[in-house]
Amino acid sequence: MNTNDFNIRKQAVREAMSAERFYEDMGVSPGLLELGGKILQELGERFSLIDETAQVNQLKVIGAMQKNRISAEHFNGSTGYGYNDAGRDDLEKVYADVFHTEDALVRSQITCGTHALSLALASNLRPGDEMVSISGKPYDTLEEVIGIRPSRGSLAEYGISYRQVELDGDGGFDYEAVRRSVSDKTRLVAIQRSKGYLTRPTLSVDQIGEAVSFVKKIRPDIIVMVDNCYGEFVDRVEPSDYGADMTVGSLIKNPGGGLAPMGGYIAGTKECVENCAVRLTSPGLGREVGASLQINRSLYQGLFMAPSVTAGALKGAIFAASLFETFGYRCIPDSREPRHDIIQAIEFGSPEGLIAFCEGIQAAAPVDSYVTPEPWAMPGYDSNVIMAAGAFIQGSSIELSADGPLHEPYAAYFQGGLTWESAKFGILKAAQRLIDKGIISMS
Ligand SMILES: *Cc1c(COP(=O)(O)O)cnc(C)c1O
Repeated sequence: MNTNDFNIRKQAVREAMSAERFYEDMGVSPGLLELGGKILQELGERFSLIDETAQVNQLKVIGAMQKNRISAEHFNGSTGYGYNDAGRDDLEKVYADVFHTEDALVRSQITCGTHALSLALASNLRPGDEMVSISGKPYDTLEEVIGIRPSRGSLAEYGISYRQVELDGDGGFDYEAVRRSVSDKTRLVAIQRSKGYLTRPTLSVDQIGEAVSFVKKIRPDIIVMVDNCYGEFVDRVEPSDYGADMTVGSLIKNPGGGLAPMGGYIAGTKECVENCAVRLTSPGLGREVGASLQINRSLYQGLFMAPSVTAGALKGAIFAASLFETFGYRCIPDSREPRHDIIQAIEFGSPEGLIAFCEGIQAAAPVDSYVTPEPWAMPGYDSNVIMAAGAFIQGSSIELSADGPLHEPYAAYFQGGLTWESAKFGILKAAQRLIDKGIISMS
């Protein structure tokens, strides 16, 4: 700019930096941006409730770190056997304090959520035992863990049987059926908090707590395990607060805060967690081994960020539901329902809609924005899946991501966003993609 008049310069510079300009340059039309703005005005009250929950959870995490006297030394890693790794061991105490459990196992050697759940099950079940899922069909990848779909190394191969109790018509527990399905053989009851790749409602922590009490009344020695994936820090309470013996999840979802590069956790009773530790490494060695290399700091820092990151992801989910409902799509949960996880399902009813949505999410990413996601066969899933993720951590779904299996009802499962601002951009980009492809239209 060849003017030295500050006021002229200021006006030009400010205009170039306006939100409208940025959005337009990055492919979001002014009309869509305006619609988004109108929707956001109505969400203010809900967003402040989310901020209050994040505040409580933030204090919970800071309190646990202070109580365990976390210091810079905890960020030093270990190599080889990993003996005397205070950073790793005290992180487990921090997790136990956050989840209010006796103990926790938090390890990079737990490779993902499926592994954490598989470990929790295989460590605490013995041949002849039966496990009962009381929240219906479990997450797709667990079908092979359990042996619902025959698979090498499944629990079924080890003589562990399985029963499943469907949720009732309203998506709550069918207590009569639970009572009938529990027998002398029942050793473990599994509950999945989040909907996974189903369009059932997500269970609230209060609902889960009631089920834990119900099962414990039938027989107190039955182990209750909760798949807590995507649920952490959405509420002020966790399933462990209501007496679940094991609360299990992935560090590349909520509790890793986007900074954990890998890992999983199991928070629970001393007995259950100890069983997991000796199965993860080896009988006799248990938790004493397992080098953390250089990741301790990321796991602490990620946990510290997690309440706020989860809050941003929740805002994104609610904004997405509100926006896509105005275009006539069924959203689960709908825009007004209470939230118990960060997943937003949107039913597109056609492969084109689902694919366009995922393309838009991908195009909004900071990483790999130039690639076009395509449906593909994924290990552990029984139909083609399309996945959009432009993530710093491979497969991290606390980062803005969307995926969905290519079958009816062609639902996209949308989640994450390390910042609310990036989630908002992604959602607008996705809507714009559907508009550009003529699948939906403005007004
Ligand atoms: C993500 C998820 C899993 C599996 O976690 P991965 O890290 O993908 O193996 C299990 N259960 C639920 C409900 C999930 O959302």
